[in-house]
Amino acid sequence: MLTQPRSAPRLAIVVPCYNEEDIFSYCLQELKGLLESMVQDATVQADSFLLFVNDGSRDTTWEQITKAVSENRCVQGLKLSRNEGHQSALLAGLEAVNVSVDAVVSIDADLQDDINAIRQMVEAYRAGYDVVYGVRENRQTDTWFKRTSAEGFYRLMASMGIKQVSNHADFRLLSHRALGALLRYSERNAYIRGLVPMVGFASTQVLYTRSARLAGESKYPLRKMLALAMEGITSMTVIPLRLIALLGFGICILSIVTAVYVVIRKFTGNVVYGWSSIVLSIFFMGGVQMLSLGVIGEYIGKIYLETKQRPRFHVENLIKNEETDPQ
Ligand code: UDP
Ligand code: MG
Repeated sequence: MLTQPRSAPRLAIVVPCYNEEDIFSYCLQELKGLLESMVQDATVQADSFLLFVNDGSRDTTWEQITKAVSENRCVQGLKLSRNEGHQSALLAGLEAVNVSVDAVVSIDADLQDDINAIRQMVEAYRAGYDVVYGVRENRQTDTWFKRTSAEGFYRLMASMGIKQVSNHADFRLLSHRALGALLRYSERNAYIRGLVPMVGFASTQVLYTRSARLAGESKYPLRKMLALAMEGITSMTVIPLRLIALLGFGICILSIVTAVYVVIRKFTGNVVYGWSSIVLSIFFMGGVQMLSLGVIGEYIGKIYLETKQRPRFHVENLIKNEETDPQ
């Protein structure tokens, strides 16, 4: 059941940026154009704005953001004290706009996601939806490897009962109350894609086609992709721990059966024991144990990090255009 249609929101578009100097001006120009046209036809309020979050870039990204803020009344900049990673940068941006907006859209700086979908997202918001997922129609612009690994990952997550919208990255709209709810999840190891569906409220999807990156290179090399996948699994479910217990149980049963078999062979006088079977079983058991310890260790590590309650990020600076936004 949807609530009443809503009036035009004060919208913030949050863009995490890490070493995006090659694409920043294009990104600014495109998003600004879109925002202005949405203001013009009264889809959003006139005081809607863009927030660029500089995630500890080592290039001129922050200088470009500062310049953009001084030249444009609809641009704000948030500087983190160091590189914290995409998810933390995004959370920092969301937290910064939380009090002042009716709705927020998050999008990557490379604009691989179709910005025209934002208009549809706002329309869905106005129709009463609180969460609007940007969902890719296909993955043709991805490499074969990225496509296959992503599909495998979604299937793996689904098999462990984690609700997640397929082919949706962090391109989405959140209403003020959905955003507030999301920010109440105070875990250090936040996997936003897994948390948003847990927030509830009325949600819908907007389909779009994702293009290739225009400039700069992906800030998500295989190492970071694997880390995000690991984060996603271990921060959302304890099923891997259960699987280990199940595996251990299975192996115990197997060893009882083997023991019975060995005893029978012994009494029937057929005792040819090669070292190979022993060595093989030692290796196998060693492998299983190491793997199990590794998975358990991963969770214990998480508990350790969570108990410290360390801050997820530090804001160094929040800049706004003084002329227009004096608060
Ligand atoms: N990003 C970030 N911090 C990081 C890595 C990436 O803020 O440590 C930002 C990056 O600037 C971009 C978004 O996260 O806006 C997604 O990165 P990218 O487009 O490189 O990922 P891909 O599309 O290749 O998965
Ligand atoms: Mg990208």
